[in-house]
Amino acid sequence: MSLGPISARGFASKAVAPSGSSESGSQGSPKGRFSRFGLSFAAIGGLALSYGAYCELNNPSSNQLPFGDPSLPTLVVLGAGWGSTSFLASLDTENYNVVVVSPRNYFLFTPLLPSCTVGTLELRSLMLPMRFITSRKRRAVKFVEADVTDVDPVSRTVTFQDNSELVGTVSKALVKYDFLVMGVGAENATFGIKGVKEHGLFLKEIWDAKRIRQKLMDCLETASFPGQPTEEVDRLLHMVVVGGGPTGVEYAAELRDFIVEDLRKWFPDVVNRVKITLVEALPHVLAAFDKSLVDYTERHFRQENIEVRLNTMVREVREKEIVVAEKVRRFVTETGEDGKEKVVEKDVLETGTVPYGMLVWAAGNATRAVTQSLISKLPKEKQNQRRGLVVDEHLAVEGAERIYAMGDCTATKYAPTAQVASQQGKYLASLFSDRGRKIRQLASAEGKNIQHACDEVEAKEGEKTFGYSHLGSLAYIGTDQAIADLPGGVRVAGAATYLFWRSVYLSNLFTLRNKMLVSFDWVKKTLFGRDIARE
Ligand SMILES: Cc1cc2nc3c(=O)[nH]c(=O)nc-3n(C[C@H](O)[C@H](O)[C@H](O)COP(=O)(O)OP(=O)(O)OC[C@H]3O[C@@H](n4cnc5c(N)ncnc54)[C@H](O)[C@@H]3O)c2cc1C
Repeated sequence: MSLGPISARGFASKAVAPSGSSESGSQGSPKGRFSRFGLSFAAIGGLALSYGAYCELNNPSSNQLPFGDPSLPTLVVLGAGWGSTSFLASLDTENYNVVVVSPRNYFLFTPLLPSCTVGTLELRSLMLPMRFITSRKRRAVKFVEADVTDVDPVSRTVTFQDNSELVGTVSKALVKYDFLVMGVGAENATFGIKGVKEHGLFLKEIWDAKRIRQKLMDCLETASFPGQPTEEVDRLLHMVVVGGGPTGVEYAAELRDFIVEDLRKWFPDVVNRVKITLVEALPHVLAAFDKSLVDYTERHFRQENIEVRLNTMVREVREKEIVVAEKVRRFVTETGEDGKEKVVEKDVLETGTVPYGMLVWAAGNATRAVTQSLISKLPKEKQNQRRGLVVDEHLAVEGAERIYAMGDCTATKYAPTAQVASQQGKYLASLFSDRGRKIRQLASAEGKNIQHACDEVEAKEGEKTFGYSHLGSLAYIGTDQAIADLPGGVRVAGAATYLFWRSVYLSNLFTLRNKMLVSFDWVKKTLFGRDIARE
């Protein structure tokens, strides 16, 4: 949408430009200078793009040092998310045998995932194969597609299992580590609420976005079935989003855009009955943002007919309805200590049911089983957080030796964000790159045993500690508007902020290929709208 005004201005200036002026005739004139500048700019841009594409296509893996040098320590990395990917991307692998274990063989750019649920972006535009990253390392890295089922901090081993659809004769194995870096993230929190897993849809992985898209189209097609009773149409077209954090807000915003910009023309009979409700247990959405931006978002949502139900807790999710308890202010009659009845105003919980067609659950994180299992093996006085692994200022897991952790699987003072995980990954990469060189030096020049060398660097003497630098928080709120809470108290919202939001995420995508795919998707959506075919 934001491309519209820019291209329109481009056309206008072309139409009013004097025609018939030859190149020589315009020499020295501002227009001539401008066109030469434009041509040079386009040529440089084209060259830069071609060079970028060449670098990406030119697979350097043939020049890699071999994996499995017995004189080097083994560094095992768990996960292929924000933490692990930025760790691997920055790590100097020359002095390690690096093994990466993850059930997903690609990195997923989560900040733009809500856009995939309605077809603004294609799923593959946000995926980057891990082998793309590992193929660019100085020493070859071993990637294993598997779930880690156990970490044994005593024997320093990691057990992993192939849980994919196709399993060979061997599907379980074990690797011994000298250093372990955990970036297994977190799973969706359901708070033990009945029915969430059975009837709700999550928004964390590629397949979640796919399922949401399928369910949404199913709701629309089923609601359009001839003779469908009005009450059933209303239920089917009630889209409930639980969780007023950035994920829930961005999903509700994308859904609203899809309805207004695309579904209106494809489902004219039922589209006006589509309703979006955002349910949040706290008094406001976007708890991590400044109050002015929170108010802006809540106002904007109301204007766009997204119902925001605050102070509302989901108690149960049934197949076709949710049970909610809403905190409301009421006048109630109470008996005082003196035995007399009096009317007082207080918060009470009112319970009710809300019929829905699709429910998206975006209510936070819970610790993964593999993380919980490791926590249970470590001293309780060191690991006392349910949110995840407690780490020290070097991101070393407290109470364990040679285990490091980053991102959503840790319990730190930082919010569980991609920004934190990727900075932690970069920090650990720098730490381990230096350590790798030191270990090699200790082992070769000073003749130390590799284990002694590893122990020596593990003492962390003189090593820089992790420091987080907050670059700001962004969220898309729909109708080509975004909010930004930036360092230095800069708080902005609106259409220009949306362009900023886009440029930030575009520049943060790891490869030129992903940047181009996302850009093409945005242009494609602007020109042709979103696809409504149900896969
Ligand atoms: C829809 C959505 C939008 C978001 N938007 C933003 C945003 O705009 N800005 C922002 O800063 N943050 C955002 N986040 C949060 C951000 O994605 C997370 O904080 C970040 O991914 C955490 O990184 P991580 O490396 O800890 O975990 P993840 O990125 O979740 O990666 C975990 C990895 O571990 C793997 N794994 C899981 N189980 C195992 C196992 N048993 N063994 C081995 N590997 C395993 C997973 O497959 C995955 O590869 C968003 C999250 C979502 C879901």
